[in-house]
Amino acid sequence: MSHAPGKGPSATTLIHHPYEAPGGFDAVVPGVHKGSTVLFRNVADLHSRQWMDKSGYTYGLHGTPTSFTLEERLATLEGGLQCLLTPSGLSAISLVDMALLQSGDEVLLPDNAYGPGKDFARVELARWGVTTRCYDSQDAASLAALITPATRLVWLEAAGSVTLEFPDLLGLLRVCRQHPQLVVALDNTWGAGLAFNAFALDPGEGLPQGVDVSIHALTKYPSGGADVLMGSVTTRSPELHKRLKLCHMRLGLGVGMDDVAAVLRGLPSMPLRYAAQDRSAREIAQWALAQPQVAQVLHPALAGSPGHSHWAGLCTQAAGLLSLQFDLRYSAEQVHAFVDALQLFGIGYSWGGPMSLAVPYDLRSMRQHPAPSLHAGTLVRLCIGLEDTADLIADLQQALNHCLPA
Ligand SMILES: *Cc1c(COP(=O)(O)O)cnc(C)c1O
Repeated sequence: MSHAPGKGPSATTLIHHPYEAPGGFDAVVPGVHKGSTVLFRNVADLHSRQWMDKSGYTYGLHGTPTSFTLEERLATLEGGLQCLLTPSGLSAISLVDMALLQSGDEVLLPDNAYGPGKDFARVELARWGVTTRCYDSQDAASLAALITPATRLVWLEAAGSVTLEFPDLLGLLRVCRQHPQLVVALDNTWGAGLAFNAFALDPGEGLPQGVDVSIHALTKYPSGGADVLMGSVTTRSPELHKRLKLCHMRLGLGVGMDDVAAVLRGLPSMPLRYAAQDRSAREIAQWALAQPQVAQVLHPALAGSPGHSHWAGLCTQAAGLLSLQFDLRYSAEQVHAFVDALQLFGIGYSWGGPMSLAVPYDLRSMRQHPAPSLHAGTLVRLCIGLEDTADLIADLQQALNHCLPA
């Protein structure tokens, strides 16, 4: 390592430097370990290290102490045993589909599933010869009627996307467990591992408990910051985990360690944020029920909301989401003007962050089957953030008064 007199340090000393910081730095937050390359002591070390069982580090794509730590915490949160991180919630869904399905197989989705996940199945899986069918999440018999010997994977989602119908989870699981060839995967983003325990759902009749796979858009509640995209795939069967992990590795689904660290920082406050946003959303739902312009308030904790009894049988908590169906006398344009008139609610997708958000949806373009329990007017999905509830209600009230005269 040369350092000639009168010259700056050589480039080599900027890379190969003898200083090693002392060990023993212990902080509340576990730290951020980054690396594409992982260094080995010698060739024998390079040949002997295993990444599959997390006993060692081999390459950045296979994980660092930071990602291992988040995976273990999420597995515990969800009540599972193993967890994989993916670059988004959507890639967690597509990973499960790709790892578990092959040409000739059938996959069943609830009709109110997260739209982009449904699109992945209908367009991409179809190109590979996988058939997708949709069932009614309120009606376990509609699921039973679609299962054939070719059905390999059944997706559950609680609550439904945008319309928030809480499914008959136990009834649906009971149907699935009559068919041992089926893998049952749940999109658990709404419940966040807090509202119910996906791996302990008891379908009764002595049938095996729980789902096989739980995916979670960490983008939402675990991050809590509206600044990270990430997903997780949690399991409790080593065989299933291995299939998912090998596919995950072959697809090269890496996550950035700064993002992992952001989720690790958000996780401890998640139960408090979830409870606060739940409380606020329910207050806003009660306010909305009293507004003559609103024909239907969709929130699983409301007695009149579709799937309420299924929610009440399993949960006491709910995510901070609600949807408002406006009376048919208002045009879509008027409802859009209402959304535009909101001052505190941002207009944008996603949820679980600090800022409240609103998005109008046209249900007719989103569902294969008409849902008789839903009012036909234009729908606005609200995600409730961490603002003062009274301020949010005042904002909604002023926008109603201006744009949707009673
Ligand atoms: C947001 C969301 C996803 C996708 O998560 P991204 O990180 O945005 O890809 C999947 N499922 C549900 C229920 C979601 O709300």
